[in-house]
Amino acid sequence: MKTRCTACGHVFADREPLTRARACPSCGAGGTLRPHVVWFGEMPLGMDQIYAALESVDLFVALGTSGTVWPAAGFVQEAKAAGAWTVELTLEPGEVSAMFDERHYGPATEILPDWIGRLEAG
Ligand SMILES: [Zn+2]
Repeated sequence: MKTRCTACGHVFADREPLTRARACPSCGAGGTLRPHVVWFGEMPLGMDQIYAALESVDLFVALGTSGTVWPAAGFVQEAKAAGAWTVELTLEPGEVSAMFDERHYGPATEILPDWIGRLEAG
């Protein structure tokens, strides 16, 4: 529901179809608007913020990921290096499963409530 201008970086709420004819409402450039999402193969937005957060987390949970898409697949290693307890909650073991301190496999609708219940029970 957001659009980003590749020329100036302006992000705005938008529900209109993206066409090359539309101009950026901030800089006026044409043909530079795209969905404000991360496509497969692109670097996630806010990597500086992500790595800063990974340096200070106590608990890192990966939910529903195969651990095959980088750089996200490396986040567990960063969190672990910072001293975080790392938990994998996913359908089946992935490529970086050995990095996790705690692993639970199955449908998220089952393993997530179970894990949260154990967490709340202390
Ligand atoms: Zn722009």
